[in-house]
Amino acid sequence: MPGKERILKRYLLLISAVFSLCIAGIFLATATRNANLMQEQLLTSARSHFTAIVVTRNWSAQHGGVYVIKRPGVASTPYLNDPDVVTTEGLVLTLKNPALMTREISDIAGENDLFSFHITSMKPLNPNNAPDLFETQALQSFEQGQEESFLMEDKAEGARLRYMAPLMVEQSCLACHAKQGYAVGQVRGGISVSFSIDEMNRAIRQSYQVILALTLVTLGLLLFSLWLVFRRMQQRLDVAQAQLREMATVDALTGVANRGSIMERFSEDFAKQRRLGGALGCLMIDVDFFKSVNDSFGHQKGDEVLKELASIISGSLRPYDTFGRYGGEEFLMVLEGESADRLAAVAERSRALVEEQLSAQCDLPKPLTISLGGALVLASDKCIDDVIQRADRALYRAKEQGRNRAVLILEEEPGPAGASPC
Ligand code: GH3
Ligand code: MG
Ligand code: MG
Repeated sequence: MPGKERILKRYLLLISAVFSLCIAGIFLATATRNANLMQEQLLTSARSHFTAIVVTRNWSAQHGGVYVIKRPGVASTPYLNDPDVVTTEGLVLTLKNPALMTREISDIAGENDLFSFHITSMKPLNPNNAPDLFETQALQSFEQGQEESFLMEDKAEGARLRYMAPLMVEQSCLACHAKQGYAVGQVRGGISVSFSIDEMNRAIRQSYQVILALTLVTLGLLLFSLWLVFRRMQQRLDVAQAQLREMATVDALTGVANRGSIMERFSEDFAKQRRLGGALGCLMIDVDFFKSVNDSFGHQKGDEVLKELASIISGSLRPYDTFGRYGGEEFLMVLEGESADRLAAVAERSRALVEEQLSAQCDLPKPLTISLGGALVLASDKCIDDVIQRADRALYRAKEQGRNRAVLILEEEPGPAGASPC
């Protein structure tokens, strides 16, 4: 039934869409969570770099900077008065202040492609420590009370995480910065940390790909199972429908068409005959003295006789003839394209076949016969009941005339006034 298939398909599509949406939602949630975790990990790493350099810098600041041996290539710290000293042994030492120490550590880390630091403030003593755009915005945000700032920078040379947190002015800073008006506890600068996140981005991309592949496989398996379940359901529905259709159209005892089915087909043939013309006839069949079969041999034997009778007659018909159980031990045959002579011939052939075969096949001692009443569709018939009524009358006459015979009524007969059942 196409309507049923359409409804099933629509349900299948709807459920598939809901499944796909759920799975897509799970994928997005997992991927977002994954990205957030990765970002959190990057920030943790940036914070620990920041803490390490601040601790190192504080140590240096607490000691007012550190003296290092001024070997060849070691420059004196600019912006300091008299950074160099000579020991009594003649060794030249130069003072590295915390800012310079931070920058030099950053340079070493940068050379090894690890990470870099930048100590900066809005008013740097050293112009090299001037903030870039990210640092300026971060410093401004610290003045508003923000505690840290970060940015994923995507440049042609690679992606980097930029992280910055403020540096509080401490007593040790005033030695150099008091002239800039710094006071202890103020936020006047910060250290920015930056490192490559290309490796991390690659890991995120790979984990996206793995999650996506797993999601697609799961979705595919789910949709395939769903399709299998629906197909099985459809097959079962088809079988159930076929059974229902059979139960609705087939007579359970004899296996031939039931009354509803044969009347429907007769009505269709009648409508076709009215549209296209041609001949159409019917034969009403009734078993002679059937009650005595039940009485003498039991109801079960009666049932067997009805089955055999249906089998003998239906086996003798053309595929396009219609034959069914009209009720009790009465059967109706609808014959398309039959003239009066053909109708009489079919009636006689059926009668003779039954007389010859029925009792033998049912192991009955005496021959069993049928009587038949036939009628052709006439121009005056309004519906099939007019034709069936005449066939019934003809059957009654066959019984009256001694049974085991066929009687046909081929013309209109005056019946009781207003007798048409149509
Ligand atoms: P007649 O020659 O006048 O037709 O005599 P008859 O005995 O056949 O009379 P009638 O047609 O009135 O009898 C019908 C009987 O058919 C009555 C009923 O017990 C029997 N019958 C109807 N349906 C069934 C059935 O499904 N199975 C059996 N075993 N008997 C049935
Ligand atoms: Mg009867
Ligand atoms: Mg009978």
